[in-house]
Amino acid sequence: MGTVLVFAEQTNGKLKRSSIELLQAAAKSGNKVVAAVFGSHAGDVTAAAGQNGAAEVYTVKDGALDQYNPELFTANMVSVIENVKPSILLASASSTGKDLFPRVAARLGAGIASDCTELNISGDNVVATKPLYSGKCFAKTSFENCSLKIVLMRANQLPVAPADAGKSATVTDHAAAKPDLKTLIKEIVKGTSEKLDLTEANVIVSGGRGLKEAANFKVLNDLADVLGATVGASRAVVDAGWVSHGMQVGQTGKTVAPSLYIAVGISGAIQHLAGMSGSKVIVAINNDANAPIFQKATYGIVGDALEIVPKLTEEFKKALHH
Ligand SMILES: Cc1cc2nc3c(=O)[nH]c(=O)nc-3n(C[C@H](O)[C@H](O)[C@H](O)COP(=O)(O)OP(=O)(O)OC[C@H]3O[C@@H](n4cnc5c(N)ncnc54)[C@H](O)[C@@H]3O)c2cc1C
Repeated sequence: MGTVLVFAEQTNGKLKRSSIELLQAAAKSGNKVVAAVFGSHAGDVTAAAGQNGAAEVYTVKDGALDQYNPELFTANMVSVIENVKPSILLASASSTGKDLFPRVAARLGAGIASDCTELNISGDNVVATKPLYSGKCFAKTSFENCSLKIVLMRANQLPVAPADAGKSATVTDHAAAKPDLKTLIKEIVKGTSEKLDLTEANVIVSGGRGLKEAANFKVLNDLADVLGATVGASRAVVDAGWVSHGMQVGQTGKTVAPSLYIAVGISGAIQHLAGMSGSKVIVAINNDANAPIFQKATYGIVGDALEIVPKLTEEFKKALHH
C-alpha cells in the first residue's frame, strides 16, 4: 500500500468540493490518504477531510499561507511532501494548483499531468486522462521512472458520495517553512460577486452575442439568481467589453463542468465548446435552429432569448417557490 497525498483547498474553513472529489477518489484506491491543508483556517477542515477519506491531515496553519504566494507555497508543499513521502499527489487544476505544482514537480523531479478529467489509481500506479486539441481527442498519461506522480484534476469530474461522519483523521501540525521571499503579495482585490467561481459552480447560465447588448445580461442575472447559478459568457461578449474576462468560458477562458449549463445566444464555436462540453446537461437557447450548439445540447429551445429567458425565470420561480 502506498500513500496518496491530496492538496486540499479550503475557503474560510470549508473544504472545496473539488478537494472532496480527490479525497474520495484517493480513498477508493485502497492507499493511505493524507491531506495537506494550508492557512490559518486549516484546522477547521480536518474533520471534513477525515470524513471524506483522509487517514491523516497535515495542517500548516501559518496565516501567511492564507493568500497564495508561489515561492511560499512551493517551499511548504515540498516540506510536507518530504515528510509524507507519497507516491501519488492529487490536486485540483485550479489557478493555484496549475501555478504551484509545476514548480513543485520541477523542484522534486516529479512527473506531472495537468488538467485531467479521468483518474485511475491502481496501487502505486496512476493513469490520468486529459483532453487535447480543445477536447477533440484524449491522451492517457501514465508515469515511468518517477517516484512521485502528480495529477491535477479538473473540478466536477469525479463523483462525490455523502461524507462518512463515523470516520476521522489523525492531525499533524506541520511547522511552516519560511523561505526568503523575492516576491510579496501586498493585497488581493476580490470581485464583488458572492457567487461561486465558474470552475466550482454546479449550475451556469452563460450569455453570448445573441443577447444583443450588455444591458440584456440582466435577464441572465435574474435567471441565475433564481437557480443559484453563476453567470458565464462567450468570448465575443467579453471582447465587446460587455462583461469581464473572468466570466469567459472556453479555450482561452475557463473550463467548466457543471451539472447544468444553459447557453443563451451562443453559437457553439469549437473554442467555446472546448470549455463547457464536459457539462452533464446542456440547454441551448438560440433563434437559429442550425446553430452548432444544438449538436452538443441535451435540450434545445429555438427562439428569441430575450422572450424565452424571462419566461423561464418566472416558471423556475414558481417551481422553486421563490
Ligand atoms: C484562438 C481563439 C480562441 C478563442 N477562445 C474562445 C473562448 O475561450 N471562448 C469563446 O466563447 N470563444 C472563443 N473564441 C471565439 C469563438 O470562435 C467565437 O467567435 C465565439 O465563441 C462566438 O461567440 P458567440 O457565440 O457569443 O457569438 P456568435 O458566434 O455571434 O453567436 C451568436 C449566436 O446568437 C444567436 N442569436 C442571435 N440573436 C438571438 C436571439 N435574439 N435569441 C437567441 N439567440 C440569438 C445566433 O443565432 C448565434 O448563434 C476563440 C477564437 C479563437 C480564434
